Formats: sequence, structure tokens, C-alpha cells
Amino acid sequence: MRRYACPNCSNEVHFRNSECVSCHSRLGYVPVRDQIFSTRPDEVQWHDGPTAYNACANRQLISCNWLVEDGAGHDHCLSCRHTLVIPNLSSPENRGHWTALEESKRRLFYSIQKFRLGVGDLENQPETALRFEFKADVLTPDGKTKKVLTGHEHGLITINVAEADDPTREKHRKAMGEPYRTLIGHFRHEVGHYYWDQLVDNSPRLEAYRAIFGDEREDYAEALKRHYHHGAPQGWDQTHVSSYACAHSWEDFAETWAHYFHIVDGLETAGWYGLDGHTPDTGLNRTPGGWSDAGPYGAVEFRPLMDAWVPLTVAMNAMNRSIGLSDFYPFVLSDTIFTKLEFIHELIHDRG
Ligand SMILES: [Zn+2]
Ligand SMILES: [Zn+2]
Ligand SMILES: [Zn+2]
Repeated sequence: MRRYACPNCSNEVHFRNSECVSCHSRLGYVPVRDQIFSTRPDEVQWHDGPTAYNACANRQLISCNWLVEDGAGHDHCLSCRHTLVIPNLSSPENRGHWTALEESKRRLFYSIQKFRLGVGDLENQPETALRFEFKADVLTPDGKTKKVLTGHEHGLITINVAEADDPTREKHRKAMGEPYRTLIGHFRHEVGHYYWDQLVDNSPRLEAYRAIFGDEREDYAEALKRHYHHGAPQGWDQTHVSSYACAHSWEDFAETWAHYFHIVDGLETAGWYGLDGHTPDTGLNRTPGGWSDAGPYGAVEFRPLMDAWVPLTVAMNAMNRSIGLSDFYPFVLSDTIFTKLEFIHELIHDRG
């Protein structure tokens, strides 16, 4: 994630901010421009030359700070438009969970835009567009709980809103023996399945994919059953980025895909703060150099990304330990995992 400055007073503002803490301008983000705009507290619209922007219809409701071009025919921003189902808002808890989910999802959309991956045509071809539904477990009249399973099917990503509840997510993390479980991790994982459908399935890359990630034609339900019953095989960390990645070829791909997003976005953030070891810290008004003008998101070569990432994670882990927090980056990447990450790097950057 890059850094932003308030256009009115030049104070640093963050991607999620709706208001500048220094001059109290109202802030709004325009995704296609990757830019934050400001307007006076008493003004309704934002302006960029002749172009006027309106607030996303979810601004008050869930603090969405994205803007919509006036006259575009939408009330909701690019990210909120792709959410088809929201939880029942009569529960204040659900509203808080939805807010947290959308905030993570805007970060997801940021990365998707930076990689120029596309989210499909929601109006004309909704069945191949990326869509989201955020649902809560339902208590049925017979006293049982109807569980909502987080997952992906043909572009529709379902997330159980309880994952946005920190204690619940932590409970699941412990129960699954995972070192890392976050909302942004869920989003990045689930869209991995969507982009597998788009970029790998029925493509000339399918054979190369199978050579690296295994054969996805293995019975999915059986594979998952095996994984939940027996767990990951001994030594899984030499070949897979997480134990869950061992469940099935598709899960390996989605876990590695999410990991590639973590690395590139992490490196972009590090570059903007002068922490990546080779980008000079020159403040807010620049594009981090060292890779290309597009930063790590536009990196052509794969190896330099890893050469910058690995020492950064070692340093960040040491930082966390020095203030008593658990590891920032609880992963070790083997050569096999590098090969998988490189496949995803090529897939994203070489789509013709
Ligand atoms: Zn300001
Ligand atoms: Zn929005
Ligand atoms: Zn999955």
C-alpha cells in the first residue's frame, strides 16, 4: 500500500481515512486514479478539474471513503458494488463486521487494480464477474445453527461475517493450528480461486500448473475430508506455504496466490517508508523506485522481489519480538514455494 498526503494541507493521510486529522477536510479515494481528494467539511462533492465525484452510498453506514464519478449511474463505489449480499443490519454486531470486511475488501480491490487483473463486467456478464456475499450463521427454529461456509464458487465469494470478529477468528486460528489468519488473507485466498478459473483453467498454462501445484482433477470433497481427518503430511512446510495448502491443488494455488499478494503489497508499503533496503526515503510525493515506476506491483523480475522481501521479514520479526509481539511473518519459504510464487508472478504479469 502506498502513502497519501492530504491535498489541502499535505499532512499524511491513510488509505482508510475519511477525514484529515489535521485540517478536517473530507477525504475521498478514487480507485481508477489511485488518488485521495479533499473537499471542505461543508461541501457535498469532490472536484478534480471539470470532474465531480460523489461519496459512495455506504459512506455513513460503514465508513466507505471511496468516491463515484458524478453521472456514472452508480450510487455505490467500485468495491461496494461487487457486494451482492450483506448481513442483517438489525444486529449492530453485523454492521461492525460488515464494516471491517469492506475495509479489507477495498485493500483487495486496490491490489487487483495495481495488478490490472480486472473484476469482470458486473452489469453485462454478472455470472463471470467477481461477486461477494457476507452472511451470518442463522439459528433455525429447531435450535440448530445453519453454518455459513466461507468459500468461492464461479466468481461468487461467500464470507462468514463472524470471521470479522477478532476473538472468533482467533479461536478458529488456534483450532486449525494456523500461525496466520486475517480478513485480508481470506479475501486474497478466495480471489485466488476466481483467478484460477480466469487465468489457468482451459489455458495453455494448465500443464505447467499441474506440474507445480499437482492435479486439480483429484476429487475435491474427498481431498478436503482427508485433510481434515489426517492433517497435512510430515514436512509439508518444505513444499507448501501453509498446512491448508496441502488439502488440494486448488487450495495450494489459492494459498500461494494470497501469499504473493502479501509479499507485493508488503514490499510496496516498505518502499514508501524507505524500509525495503534500496528505496531512499524521500517522503510522500513520489513513486517508490527500485523496481519500475509501478513499484513492486509492476516488477517484471520475480527474484528481486524475494531478495527484498526475505531480509525485510527477518527484520520485522525481530522488531515484533523486541516489543513482545508474535512474529510479523510466521512463514519460511523453501525453493519449492519460490517456484510456486514465481508461477503466480508470471501468471499475473504475462497475460498477453
Ligand atoms: Zn488536511
Ligand atoms: Zn463504497
Ligand atoms: Zn480455498
